[in-house]
Amino acid sequence: MPDRSMPEDPSSVRKELERYRLVVTELQGKIRQLEDELQTTTAMTEMPTVVVTRPELHQTLSRLLNKIAMIVQASEVVIMLYQPEAGELVVLPPSLGITDEQASQVHVDPEQGVTGLVYRTGESAIYNDALNDPRTLKDKIALLRMRNGICVPLTIKQRDEEERIIQERVIGVMHACNKRYEQAFNDDDVRLLEMLAEQAAAIVSNAQIYIELTEEKARLEQTLETLHAGVIAVDVSGRIRLLNRAAAQMLGISALSYEGQQLTAVVSNEQVADLLHNSLADQTEIQVEIGSAADRRIYKGETSLMRDEGKLQAIVAIFNDITEIRQVERMKTAFVSTVSHELRTPLTSIKGFISTLIDDVDNLYDDETRQEFYGIIDQECDRLTRLISDLLNVSRIESGRALDMQLSEVDLHKLAGRVLQAQQQYTTRHKLINEVPTDFPLIEADGDKVYQVIDNLIGNAIKYAPEGGNITVAAEDEGGTIRLDITDQGLGIPERHRDKIFERFHMVDDDVEHKAIKGTGIGLYLVRHLTRAHGGDVWLASSEEGKGSTFAVRLPKVAQESEQAGI
Ligand code: ADP
Repeated sequence: MPDRSMPEDPSSVRKELERYRLVVTELQGKIRQLEDELQTTTAMTEMPTVVVTRPELHQTLSRLLNKIAMIVQASEVVIMLYQPEAGELVVLPPSLGITDEQASQVHVDPEQGVTGLVYRTGESAIYNDALNDPRTLKDKIALLRMRNGICVPLTIKQRDEEERIIQERVIGVMHACNKRYEQAFNDDDVRLLEMLAEQAAAIVSNAQIYIELTEEKARLEQTLETLHAGVIAVDVSGRIRLLNRAAAQMLGISALSYEGQQLTAVVSNEQVADLLHNSLADQTEIQVEIGSAADRRIYKGETSLMRDEGKLQAIVAIFNDITEIRQVERMKTAFVSTVSHELRTPLTSIKGFISTLIDDVDNLYDDETRQEFYGIIDQECDRLTRLISDLLNVSRIESGRALDMQLSEVDLHKLAGRVLQAQQQYTTRHKLINEVPTDFPLIEADGDKVYQVIDNLIGNAIKYAPEGGNITVAAEDEGGTIRLDITDQGLGIPERHRDKIFERFHMVDDDVEHKAIKGTGIGLYLVRHLTRAHGGDVWLASSEEGKGSTFAVRLPKVAQESEQAGI
């Protein structure tokens, strides 16, 4: 028994105390670590599992990686996923302890390294001597300055109702590297990391599917929103599932979200509501033409049935605006009848005068009357020729063939003079005035086509000024280009037709005066094409109803290469 009364050597007591102090510090450290672990595991179970956006996934993973690092005492934690498109395992951000730059360089062939091995076999691995371990990829080890590490598979497990695993799939791996305090990783670390990796795999795969789905949905919705066609989808109980912006515009309602509302509460247009209801009731696909009185447009509505495993889920109706198509069809029909009329009129007149002259065997008509008849026949032939050449040109433009340009030096004073002289024969009510200066600069152009341009514009000026008046052709030298202004004192052009008159078949038809004048609606269309073929243009410079109009033509002094194909 030690003698208690004997005083102990003070230095040994100090040593003993020092030892106890170390043990207590170590124990305190362990307790803190245990507390941390405990906290971590509780926090892990509280971790939000519904990740809905990429930043949220990033945040959740970042928290998870921090906790993993703490639990297994690793300095770096990296998740790598197999990317089928790249055929490699690549780092999924965020990573812990490595830079983005380093992460971008870490991509591994599934046939190589510890990463590949764990990915292929689904078995975890420890590599405590990273540099000398034959399984490791030395460049990656050097890049990440790895001493040691553990790698576990990221496996998604599909379970049945009794929680039995029915399917397993490895989607990647997780590395935890460089154990802190210069220690080595052990089997406990592997076990812990495997547990955490399971959670990470579930988060990643669920979130990825969810994010992809929501992004796909958003893309689809955006596409539907920007579609020109109106789309309305209703489910079997008549509730709106989708009503895009074009549909809202067609219905004249604001572009809000109507999802979940009853169709009848939102859509007051009977034709649209009937189309959807009938299609729903009869379970058939229907096509109808719907006219909207509000904006004078015509839509073609078509429904299609959406079924899932044979059961009707929804009706989708698509509405295409066919106003322009119908209008062109109408115009074409009108055009055909006008053209046949326009062709028949001069022919009837020619035939009439020729028959009269043939029948006049007794020479009842004097020379002057005969000359007058010949003159009329000649004019009518000109009219026919002009019309036929207009038609040929239109058909040439429509078929996309380039106009054949015959360039030469053109004297616009003389050219305008010829047009006015020819046109003056047809009218006594109008005074045709050539204001193009005699010394106006020559331009390089196709003379016949420029003739046709001025001829058409003067022809219109005469035709649409039934009361007569002055018609002038003025010219201006603009430097590299010239401008011709053809002015009449006629009917003028109503505001709403001004930018349409250059479209083929377009004719002003809202006043009796315009309506009474026969036309084909192709003259200005041709004029625009002919000027553009020179690299120039034509436009309505001014117009006032009942006062007259001025059409302006701009042509380059030297004809330019230009798009001459059909418009
Ligand atoms: P059209 O053969 O009908 O004259 P255009 O293409 O030459 O065909 O003209 C299209 C329409 O523009 C005409 O139907 C007419 O209503 C209007 N228009 C053209 N020129 C004039 C003008 N000088 N004054 C009034 N209206 C015009």
